[in-house]
Amino acid sequence: MRINILLRCTECSEENYLTQKNKRNTPDRLEQKKYCPKCKKVTIHKEKTKK
Ligand SMILES: [Zn+2]
Repeated sequence: MRINILLRCTECSEENYLTQKNKRNTPDRLEQKKYCPKCKKVTIHKEKTKK
């Protein structure tokens, strides 16, 4: 049930992190505060499913 997802910065839309989640345990879209090298600060990163 684990799927690959990309975490994308909501400020610059850069896809900074590749991670995994369990679709059964986390059906909602992931939202995490992560450091964005392009923005050079911590921003909200939202899930984007990777095919
Ligand atoms: Zn950014």
